Amino acid sequence: MKNKKLDTVGILCGLFLVVALVANIVLGNLDAEANRPKIPDTAQTYATSAQGIFSEVKVETVADADGIYSVKVVEHGETPELGGVAAEELPGKIVEAQSVEVDGVAGATMTSNAIKSAVTEALIQAGFMDAPAEPEVEEVAEEAAEETAAAAVEIPEGAQTYTVTKPGVFGEDVVVEIVADADEIYSVAVVQNNETQGIGSMAVEQLPAKIVAAQSVEIDGVAGATMTSNAIKTAVAAALAEAGIDPANFAAPAAEAAEEAPAEKTEVELECDVLVVGAGGAGLTAAVRATQEGADVLVLEKMAMVGGNSLRAEGGMNAADTKYEEALGLTDSTVENYIEDTLRLGHYLADPDLVRTLAENGAEAVDWLDSIGAPLPEVEATGGAQGRKYLHKPEGGLPVGEYLVDKLKHQIEELGVNVMLNTRATEILMEDGKAVGVKAEDAEHLYTVKAKAVVLATGGFGANFELMASFDPSLANAVTTNHAGATGDGILMAEAIGAATVDMEQIQLHPTVIQSNGLLVSESLRSHGAILVNAEGKRFVNDMDGRDVVSQAELKQTGAYAFIIFDQKLVDEVALTKKFIAGGYTMTGETYEELAKAMGMDEEAAQNFVQTMETWNASVAEGEDKEFGRKGVDQDLSVAPFYAIKIAPGIHHTMGGIKINTEAQVISTEGEVIPGLFACGETTGGIHGGNRVGGNAVADFTIFGRIAGQSAAAYAVGGTAEEAAAEEAPAAESAGAAQTVTVTKPGVFGEDVVVEVVADANEIYSVTVLQNNETQGIGSMAVDQLPGKIVEAQSAEVDGVAGATMTSNAILSAVAEALAEIGFAA
Ligand code: ADP
Repeated sequence: MKNKKLDTVGILCGLFLVVALVANIVLGNLDAEANRPKIPDTAQTYATSAQGIFSEVKVETVADADGIYSVKVVEHGETPELGGVAAEELPGKIVEAQSVEVDGVAGATMTSNAIKSAVTEALIQAGFMDAPAEPEVEEVAEEAAEETAAAAVEIPEGAQTYTVTKPGVFGEDVVVEIVADADEIYSVAVVQNNETQGIGSMAVEQLPAKIVAAQSVEIDGVAGATMTSNAIKTAVAAALAEAGIDPANFAAPAAEAAEEAPAEKTEVELECDVLVVGAGGAGLTAAVRATQEGADVLVLEKMAMVGGNSLRAEGGMNAADTKYEEALGLTDSTVENYIEDTLRLGHYLADPDLVRTLAENGAEAVDWLDSIGAPLPEVEATGGAQGRKYLHKPEGGLPVGEYLVDKLKHQIEELGVNVMLNTRATEILMEDGKAVGVKAEDAEHLYTVKAKAVVLATGGFGANFELMASFDPSLANAVTTNHAGATGDGILMAEAIGAATVDMEQIQLHPTVIQSNGLLVSESLRSHGAILVNAEGKRFVNDMDGRDVVSQAELKQTGAYAFIIFDQKLVDEVALTKKFIAGGYTMTGETYEELAKAMGMDEEAAQNFVQTMETWNASVAEGEDKEFGRKGVDQDLSVAPFYAIKIAPGIHHTMGGIKINTEAQVISTEGEVIPGLFACGETTGGIHGGNRVGGNAVADFTIFGRIAGQSAAAYAVGGTAEEAAAEEAPAAESAGAAQTVTVTKPGVFGEDVVVEVVADANEIYSVTVLQNNETQGIGSMAVDQLPGKIVEAQSAEVDGVAGATMTSNAILSAVAEALAEIGFAA
């Protein structure tokens, strides 16, 4: 990225200091302390911080003018495998060397630099180091010193500390500690919580400081984390009350305190090859792919965190004809069947060319996810797909969105891609009919970002009620499962420069949404055997039918709601059920009768319910659902206790959006390609038609994210999208002649490291570590990083990962052996 007016580093430092206040994620105390014995009385503890790649990295340094006695990273939200290693290793090195001039951790340069600059600031305050002469650094140090000074408020003797516990989203304790007297709130800290990383954790991180700054609990919660925000605010109010302080003293609207906004924003110009707008699954994928293709990429994200709606995806990714399906001997999970199922379930409204692209590129996308350390090896049936298994999931029942966003973040960090958080794109810049960048803004800057290619990956509009109601007025007050940033910005910006849209009125309801707060009860409960019953205790639909069919059926039941029913066996199998139980969302009973009572059913409905359950269990024993024709009926509901969650339909996915072609190029209302403009993910239309199949959102963002990144990079730095596609083709062809060889080597503890290599005499197509039990954060770094490096270098002679030599050697020697067997000659 080149900056025309100001030095980029300066801007990003300034920007990151702002971002730092709002964008970090609490990980709790990290075991990364290195203490020297005798700490003299002159030593003090300095709390400083600096922006890493994804978060503010907070450091505590104990030092005086003569020595550095202890350094500890107390909080960060960096990826555990890279930044986490820097957080563990660097403090000890700094104390040991009595200097910040130590080598950073390989692969975690930005986190290492953040730690070093935070420690530097502390050492300057301690008088151990002089402030550097360069104006930029001085400025940054000054701002940080001001922050630290502001944080160190003097607390009068009369002030007391109060601790209050409130339930968070899932009922688990959110413990808040305040220091206050009748006149002032001196500090607020969340000392314990188990809220969702990246969602509730944002409130945990941001709200305490906001409350202190505003001297009020009447402040806005954190968008997307309303329930955690409320837990914190009510805990603070309760703590004040417990302290005998009238919470009304601190209930003034925070207007004056909060809104001393800077009068004028600074104008800044930035440049890059490929600009990606939106850092959800599609944007992160496109950014990684475009960087891999040699483009200089910048990502803008309007929220304080990456992930968007993608972060909330719990199921998996659909793909056909994958190696995992082949290994299971599945014969009906074919590309043609998948196309047919996707088109049929989408009411034949989708663009068949886009669906074919989705289907034909799934297996390769699954392999690519492998190559970036994000395998999806578990395969399950997809809802509505007649029992056909296309749904690929991470190992161990991890929610797919959290998992993939984390892995993509990791890649972004490794590739050094800049992600500007809290920065909203507002307008697409056009020159001679071509997209050449965007206008964007954050709290302090107005950006003009010049780019050779722009990728819109801004997600859907499932949180823009006005826009949804313009297509379907009944949705104006509906519950939504979407994150607050899903406001359709990309669609509106694209329309403003003449892009066509398709299927905008196709808005999907998800059938199992808790109405009090829009929490989604994932389809995986039903795919593991849960059933739906109505208020009369009866089943009313094939529970595994398409989301639209099930939602519409629910809306026709008494009260327009239903209960999802499951048993203890399912609870033991599906980890996320425990969150619903802990959160108080379930009703329960030791018998079907008891559960019926807990659901508030009268005698007749209760009898129906018992009958329904018995019939269902008998159907499972026979392997056939004669009533509603549900496929894959193999799990009964017979192990007490039994559970129910009351659910109804909620807005889930907006199928319509920007019109694209199979290369992710945006199409104008005239039917022409708009040069320089690409789009992918939920912001586009035409892929899902009238109903988005469960597992196809992740497929969409992965496959079209890759295509958009590839096409944009080709347009920006090398030829046209057509040429890029043409280049891809021979690779795919020669892959046909490629061989797959699997080699097992012992890892650090002698346990198997199983490596699969796909190559022919001329090219290494993929390297995958299929199995390992190496240490998380050490050997796992080699497992994550080496396969990609080997493919990129087209050689097994690459450097191992620092600190993970033995695991690296196991992988490298396995690959060398496999290549020798294949006869790879390059
Ligand atoms: P997808 O699955 O298509 O990636 P997501 O909802 O996961 O969709 O991600 C879209 C991302 O785009 C979200 O993180 C959202 O906050 C971001 N976004 C939306 N509008 C803008 C905008 N105007 N500028 C920058 N980022 C945006």
